[in-house]
Amino acid sequence: MKISSKLLNLIKQNKSFLIVGHINPEADSIGSSLALSLGLRKMGKKDICVLSRDPVPETLSFLPLSKTVRQKPPAGEFDVVFIVDCNEVSRTGFEGFRAKKMAVIDHHVLPSNSKTSEFYRSLSASLIDPDAAAAGLLVYRVLTALRVTIDKNIATNLYTAILTDTGGFRYSNASAESLQTAACLVEAGARPWDISKEVYESIPFKSMKLLGLSLATLERKDGIAWINATKHMFDKTETTSEDCEDFVDFPRKIKDTEVAVFFRQDGGHTYKLSLRSKGRVDVQKIARSFGGGGHVAAAGCKVTGTLKEVQDKVFRAVRKAIKES
Ligand code: 5GP
Ligand code: MN
Repeated sequence: MKISSKLLNLIKQNKSFLIVGHINPEADSIGSSLALSLGLRKMGKKDICVLSRDPVPETLSFLPLSKTVRQKPPAGEFDVVFIVDCNEVSRTGFEGFRAKKMAVIDHHVLPSNSKTSEFYRSLSASLIDPDAAAAGLLVYRVLTALRVTIDKNIATNLYTAILTDTGGFRYSNASAESLQTAACLVEAGARPWDISKEVYESIPFKSMKLLGLSLATLERKDGIAWINATKHMFDKTETTSEDCEDFVDFPRKIKDTEVAVFFRQDGGHTYKLSLRSKGRVDVQKIARSFGGGGHVAAAGCKVTGTLKEVQDKVFRAVRKAIKES
């Protein structure tokens, strides 16, 4: 997908940039935001702030410049705010931004009516490509179009973003472009084993204990496999929601699973769901019907009720989707 000259000019012609990802950020949100900020700095832009409502997870503190991420915007107005790795202001966790112009760089599926929405029309530019494996790939496209030389810090942020959003280059989104870009990033200084060690081989002990408790809840029926994590489990293992980032991968790994679901108790009667599809079912549609969103194969939402009520509602929707697939 060609990058619009509108987007490139927006960067070239402005001086101050606020870059914001989504709530509960993971490596793509943080990595692509940091890489964009580093690239803009290389172009001589000095007034840049990377913003995240929620703190950078401890497991991502190895990302170069991660310490510069701020949780509150500085005073004053920016020329441009970039919304990265999401496509709604609400997903950033902020109500709005003090910026003259707004742009989006994202790879999530847009809500069906969004192209005509006021928000979408208000954007000065956008790069939205749901076929892109990661927002990091889009930032790479933008920086190379701007002829920014990719250095080790940019490469490490982008490689981590692409690595994690493709599940270690295993998912259906692991395109030729994602592998070719990864190779360029390695040439530019990203070190695959150092990054893999941080991402996949540094799980906190307490998280593994939580995984043990959560896996003990494993059940399956009608092509759906699921696990949950309750507040009691978090308390017992002294963990938080940060500790169960990839738990949904386990029910998905099971043979004959079509859809995997992870139920994470967020409050008394609120559950954060992670939905994963093996390929036949569009879980983004299911998540959206509960007010969430995401990708065809990976999506999330929040549902209120007791665990039993939430599961009944969700499984009804998933069973219907499997039947219609
Ligand atoms: P996860 O299950 O890992 O939280 O999220 C899977 C994918 O769905 C990610 O791309 C994430 O950004 C997206 N996602 C998760 N929860 C929500 C939500 O509540 N709303 C929207 N729009 N997307 C979500
Ligand atoms: Mn992403």
